[in-house]
Amino acid sequence: MSPRPDFAEALAHARSQRLEAHLARRLIAAGRERPGRIRIGGRELIDFGSNDYLGLAQHPRLVAALRRASQAGARASHLLGGHQAVHEALERALADWLGYPRALLFSTGYMAATGTLPALLGRHDLCAQDRLNHACLLDGARLAGARLERYRHADAQAASEILLAHPQRRALLVTDSVFSMDGDLAPLTELAAVAQSERAWLMVDEAHGLGVLGPEGRGACAAAGLSAEDVPVWMGTLGKALGCFGAVIAGSDLVIDTLIDRARSFVYTTAMPPALAEAALEAVVLARAADAERAHLVALIARLRSGAAALGLELLPSATPIQPLVLGSADRALAWANALRAAGCYCPAVRPPTVPAGSARLRISLSAAHALDDVDRLLEVLETRLTMGH
Ligand SMILES: *Cc1c(COP(=O)(O)O)cnc(C)c1O
Repeated sequence: MSPRPDFAEALAHARSQRLEAHLARRLIAAGRERPGRIRIGGRELIDFGSNDYLGLAQHPRLVAALRRASQAGARASHLLGGHQAVHEALERALADWLGYPRALLFSTGYMAATGTLPALLGRHDLCAQDRLNHACLLDGARLAGARLERYRHADAQAASEILLAHPQRRALLVTDSVFSMDGDLAPLTELAAVAQSERAWLMVDEAHGLGVLGPEGRGACAAAGLSAEDVPVWMGTLGKALGCFGAVIAGSDLVIDTLIDRARSFVYTTAMPPALAEAALEAVVLARAADAERAHLVALIARLRSGAAALGLELLPSATPIQPLVLGSADRALAWANALRAAGCYCPAVRPPTVPAGSARLRISLSAAHALDDVDRLLEVLETRLTMGH
């Protein structure tokens, strides 16, 4: 017999190890009939697990846009006939909203990052990234073959030291604006200053900032007063606060033309379904005008944080709708998630490798679709769990 290891045996061994460490993952088929609610196993729970921050995913205007569709698919890649007038209209609407000369659509945020970074960077270049950046940004830098250096979370000084150590390399500094599993903000003003003084470019992933923060919901960069010159490569997604699916890179003509030529996840893939672009176009209009929803979110966040503090529960320091409760071990996080679920609140446990070892957590996310009562109910359930003493 060949000495080659058995494939299935290796996979089964690795899976059983993950199961033992409470790190195996399992899909559940959920129903989402009403905003702010999720149906699991025949029960409707309050949904503290979605990224639908403005409650737009079920908005009648978005749903109507999809229903109006006369075609299911775009039939071709953007460059080979798949790019339609509605894609162009959506790109223009996004560029106008974000204050950039141009915008380019991608099918997902994951694809935007893994296409953009290799289009902009080669193996002689430097890519400095926050240690807690989203996986797609790290993967994009690896795919580019660039020299990837990760700096201490939210530490602009550490980012600066990396750039200073490589003065001869073309450099891109990359950060999430709102960190997806922590909810805190990158020091954007400081990072922009570092990039400027080191002649590096700054790329910011606003997946969780767009629609939520800043004037007209333009994101954390706009909230910090940063311009298109400060952030030459701006990334956002359409699947979170915009309630749709897809992603956008905003930049100069030069950046966007470079991506059209070179971003492989743009060039070699089917264009976004036109009906989705129609829905996203509606979402842009709604998100720009959603000041009332943003104010409601701020009230929900304040209610949760003050209620948690009164219970002695320490949420991570976050002023965004992402309000994590770090519990430590994976099995503890799972136990809490299960207890909350049994009591009617869906708060997914997030475990390594999505978060660093020993920092498994409940990722509580709030949406304008929640009522203050929903937050109060969550606090009651958390209090009950606390009195059980785990
Ligand atoms: C969700 C997310 C992405 C990926 O976006 P998708 O459109 O879901 O692929 C990228 N970056 C960050 C920070 C995210 O949270």
